[in-house]
Amino acid sequence: MKNIYAIGVGLIGGSLAIDIKKNNPDAIIHGISRKDATLEQALSLNLIDKKATLDDLVNADLVIVSIPVDATVKLLPTILDKIPDTALVVDAGSTKVDICKAVENHPKRRNFLAMHPIAGTEHSGPTAAIAGLFNGKTNIVCEIEKTTFKLQEKALKLFGDIGMRMRYMNPADHDKHIAYVSHLSHISAFMLGKTVIDKERNERDIFDMAGSGFASTVRLAKSSPEMWTPIFKQNKSNVVETLEEYITNLTRFKEFLKDDNFEAIYTEMKSTNHIKDILNGIN
Ligand code: NAP
Repeated sequence: MKNIYAIGVGLIGGSLAIDIKKNNPDAIIHGISRKDATLEQALSLNLIDKKATLDDLVNADLVIVSIPVDATVKLLPTILDKIPDTALVVDAGSTKVDICKAVENHPKRRNFLAMHPIAGTEHSGPTAAIAGLFNGKTNIVCEIEKTTFKLQEKALKLFGDIGMRMRYMNPADHDKHIAYVSHLSHISAFMLGKTVIDKERNERDIFDMAGSGFASTVRLAKSSPEMWTPIFKQNKSNVVETLEEYITNLTRFKEFLKDDNFEAIYTEMKSTNHIKDILNGIN
């Protein structure tokens, strides 16, 4: 893999570029982005070796697409139009149904592999890119049977070499499950942050009184709205379902409190402590 094109050089694209370059020092990482300033930043941070444009994709061996999911849906067919027959294209989008649908009938569908690396932070842009982000993390791979064997092998080696474990899922199952474990957590953090900001007008009070519990619970509220709005749009029906269940639980908790039913509150929390066993071993 000599010529690698990173379309999107933020947290995910930049972090992938760092790890892949480390394992493939002879590769040239070409960066493509909307704004030239972003590419300049990626160059100065050594995330990429060169700036490029979509027309340069004729020279690609590998294309990694790490831009917001609405932009991925729009751009992916054009990317496949431009690449040579031998190139592999992967995307890192947090939704999979609309992305897979966008290229289902494309003549170069077999050059594409849909992925979702389950790794990240609440930060964005080139300065957020870090080495080793994917080590020990899961990579959800969708519709692998639609990619040529040769390119499947290349992709699995590339992502295995940066420490990722592959899990295979169809796009609909991916979007359903990820709504619970990722999308709902982000909404919950955003709305918790909003509730506190709306009520505690004095930011100094928030800062002085908020313990590390609040900071860690609300951490995801620092995430980029530019990335998250299209995710909620594409996964709307699953996300609405998770929200309804979450709101039911919040309402139940409120009713228990109003009714002085502390036994029920104790039992709810005790049974939820089981999350410790489920998450044991993650980070
Ligand atoms: P990011 O740090 O905000 O980087 C995204 C980059 O995409 C930006 O640098 C931006 O560059 C570029 N971009 C934005 N809109 C674009 C458009 N319309 N066309 C072309 N480029 C555009 O975001 P990220 O966290 O790396 O996320 C990238 C992808 O990975 C998303 O699909 C996201 O769903 C997925 N993902 C994210 C995480 C996470 O935790 N953050 C985890 C797994 C997967 P410009 O400044 O040039 O606009």
